[in-house]
Amino acid sequence: MRFDTVPMPPTVDSRPRDTRGYPVPAITPWQGDEPQFALTDYGRSADCARGRLCSVCNTLMPRGPVWRVVGAAESDAIGAALAAGRPYRNLAPTLEGPGHRACMLYASMVCPYLARPNARRGLSADRPDEMTEHVVRGAVRGAMGAVVGFGDYEYAVTDSQVLFRFLDVVEFLPHDTADAHLDELKAELDRLAGN
Ligand SMILES: [Zn+2]
Repeated sequence: MRFDTVPMPPTVDSRPRDTRGYPVPAITPWQGDEPQFALTDYGRSADCARGRLCSVCNTLMPRGPVWRVVGAAESDAIGAALAAGRPYRNLAPTLEGPGHRACMLYASMVCPYLARPNARRGLSADRPDEMTEHVVRGAVRGAMGAVVGFGDYEYAVTDSQVLFRFLDVVEFLPHDTADAHLDELKAELDRLAGN
């Protein structure tokens, strides 16, 4: 969805913008004036991990659950585990750090890069046009991925990567359309504003 049709969490609103006006996530590297949305910045990601900062808005995440946007494969695996009544544990570490619930709901609708499987977020460039098309096209229930709340997470800062591992699914919100979480985001922002 266009970013200006989705209500923006206040902490996202105060992020730097690209030339189109898109807010730039905390973990996104810059090349001059151009944010590299397809990539994850090592130093910025390490800062977020060590400081318990949201990977989208760069502000503190309170104790308790954290959220992230997962791609289709992980969404399927979580959905299957929950349906079978067994715990899901993401044993494969991911480069994608956690964030606030509101930030991840927002990102799931606005930032197509965050809705892709882990594999595409290495250090090489992607094909954004193809990727965006894929996100817009999703039709099967949950086929695009999910916003998932986790009870806890671990991280490791290696020489070249910042790796995260997520434990204990506490919320599972699959999405199959680009605006799937609009009502949920509005409700979350109302809740945060004390309305
Ligand atoms: Zn945030």
